[in-house]
Amino acid sequence: MCYRLLLFCLLPWLAQAQTPPAATLLHPAAVFDGQDLHPGWAVLVENGKITAAGPAAQLTAPAGARTLELPGLTLLPGLIEGHSHLLLHPYNETSWDDQVLKEPLALRVARATVHAQRTLLAGFTTTRDLGTEGAGYADVGLKQAIDEGIIPGPRLLVATRALVATGSYGPHLAAVDDLPQGAQEADGVDGIIRAVREQIGRGADVVKVYADYRWGPGGTAAPTFSQEELTLIVQTARSTGRGVVAHASTAEGMRRAVLAGVETIEHGDAGTPEVFRLMKQRGVALCPTVAATDATSQYKGWKKGQGPTPERVLAKHRAVQAALQAGVTLVMGGDVGVFPHGDNARELELLVNDYGLAPLQVLRAATAGNAQVFHLADRGRIAPGLLADLVAVAGDPTRQVEALRQVRLVMKGGVLYRQP
Ligand SMILES: [Zn+2]
Repeated sequence: MCYRLLLFCLLPWLAQAQTPPAATLLHPAAVFDGQDLHPGWAVLVENGKITAAGPAAQLTAPAGARTLELPGLTLLPGLIEGHSHLLLHPYNETSWDDQVLKEPLALRVARATVHAQRTLLAGFTTTRDLGTEGAGYADVGLKQAIDEGIIPGPRLLVATRALVATGSYGPHLAAVDDLPQGAQEADGVDGIIRAVREQIGRGADVVKVYADYRWGPGGTAAPTFSQEELTLIVQTARSTGRGVVAHASTAEGMRRAVLAGVETIEHGDAGTPEVFRLMKQRGVALCPTVAATDATSQYKGWKKGQGPTPERVLAKHRAVQAALQAGVTLVMGGDVGVFPHGDNARELELLVNDYGLAPLQVLRAATAGNAQVFHLADRGRIAPGLLADLVAVAGDPTRQVEALRQVRLVMKGGVLYRQP
């Protein structure tokens, strides 16, 4: 057991240690380029980038190139996770409150390094990490460790601490004042401008704001920031060239966030047809995080396939249908961390198996689609000039989403982290 495990753990390190050959020709059964499936295509990688893709007979590898024969495999662009929390682990292991309040920062970071490796080896070569949940700016350091090749992991877009209105977030203990919070509290003109600038100055690639949270009567979700505050957050971030994403599950929280100019809405559970039409008009995408809803409902006792479907799962179904009906772009992101890192494909599987989307639809969204929404013009497709972030899976994921579980090869920037 140890030998196999050791080899598995060391593989990325070996990959890191080796300098990749200047050129690699990949010869799979088919290539999914981010849009369509092309049987018989091959892909040429040189110096960390894709330099050619097309019918195998038309591609010639330069002298000294390594050829990787990948029979039976489909090669696709490295998958892009749209909503992760590398600093969290599943709530059925440790509650969110206990992770934020009781776990030492070093423990959380140590776990996060393992989470990053699992994410990469599952074929997700980029992830948008939406908040450290009380772990400060640890995501910025994690990103640096990956970029410097100290640990294996996906390319990261980080949000750092995220912004919440005072009193709206958690943890809460009525008997204790000034508990550490899972995000940065900020209010009003001066407070908000300062907090956004602080997070950007410390390394945020995107700014995340909680436009609503469960602080209404009886713990119901209710809007947090005013329209003016949200608009100011977006203006402040945008003037530095960064976008804002909003956690929002109420119709009013979503509406305010969309009017403020956020780029994506996370969750969107109680979105109404009107709100989704507004999102479509303003070009705002929805990251539905169906996997998180599915997981937390099961943690709370739902026996999937046996017991009655919980109302929050039904609400999610209504929201996804209404969003699709309105023509809203879907971001693929599961809120992974709520469920295990490396299990990122769960969001795509559920959207196909439980929500009726086509495998091709979710694959396009998790590659070219997410890249477009996140302004990552250098990845998400297989085309000359783009980063050589590639994944090969057994079978045809454009027909059977389950093929995404059969990852056989992972390449990031031309470096192999997993190979058959
Ligand atoms: Zn989240």
